[in-house]
Amino acid sequence: MRCQAMTAFGQPLEDLERETPQPGPGEALVKITRAGLCHSDLHIHEGFFNVGGDAKQPVAVQFPCVLGHEIEGEVAALGDGAKGPAPGTRVAVFPWIGCGQCTACKRGDQHLCGPNRVLGVARWGGLADHVLVPDADALIPIGDLAPGVGALAMCSGLTAFSALKKIGKPRAEEPIVLVGMGGVGLAGLALAKALFPNPIVAVDIDPAKREAALKRGAAEAIDPAAADAAKTFVKQSGGAVAAVDFVGAGDTYAFASGSIRRGGTVVVVGLFGGLANIPLITLPLRAMTIAGSFVGSLDEARELVDLLKTGKVATPLMEERPLAAANSAFDDLRAGKVVGRVVLTP
Ligand SMILES: [Zn+2]
Ligand SMILES: [Zn+2]
Repeated sequence: MRCQAMTAFGQPLEDLERETPQPGPGEALVKITRAGLCHSDLHIHEGFFNVGGDAKQPVAVQFPCVLGHEIEGEVAALGDGAKGPAPGTRVAVFPWIGCGQCTACKRGDQHLCGPNRVLGVARWGGLADHVLVPDADALIPIGDLAPGVGALAMCSGLTAFSALKKIGKPRAEEPIVLVGMGGVGLAGLALAKALFPNPIVAVDIDPAKREAALKRGAAEAIDPAAADAAKTFVKQSGGAVAAVDFVGAGDTYAFASGSIRRGGTVVVVGLFGGLANIPLITLPLRAMTIAGSFVGSLDEARELVDLLKTGKVATPLMEERPLAAANSAFDDLRAGKVVGRVVLTP
């Protein structure tokens, strides 16, 4: 197999050739057709996540490692006893695979288990032509979804879907605010349009991204850098029932929490990092809920793929590039030059 491997933090990926692995009991081998690039890949490549102020949480990986957790392909082989779709089936690969033994895994939250079997982090991931999947149950048939849609569903799509599910079923006239129109935010916009009749308000400092959001059905697009942007929004609309922060920085959280009405919910999804100053008295006085959402469960991933198969969700913006151009794709993503998602093809 061929892969673009990370051999040291912060260094260009290297083109490596390795023997293609054979699936053991319960495992599956997938021939990759598409792999999406995610901002988390950039953080892992840098070697740390910013957890607020100057605090950095180091990433533990073994070199060489292969990034990429938004994977789509065809089942190439199943190991002994593996309960997965037959070889040749088009699948998306759920990458957030848990140990299968702990309480989180047993209640269906294997995405909250730990990183040990996660593809593209602890295990070799999608920036390759094949991937070994440690549990064939993680393969989700995608039918005839357009190329790349299944891949993007596994991180940006799933992350947005799981976050939006935490809003519940609000009254139809109340606006929902989505902060940050990067890859995950745009996926969130498309899903929110399919899931809710409510007006969806897009927020981004970048005019090109606000424009992209308006073209894709946002009722309104707000520049959060404008003076008193959140206050003005609340005055005009009565406030949002919920705001999803797809960035997770101090100022995007500030806008999100400032844009909700009393009794509203802020869901923080983005991993940009930063600190928020939260006067605790505002939680009871505003009857406010702050929730965190991390990727999503395997059941949610299956539910999302079913929703995508209905054709009710707009296809995400994506740009295909060859796997061999992974390094320049990383550079562009880091420089904020990508609208939507880059999808690599081996
Ligand atoms: Zn991701
Ligand atoms: Zn577990």
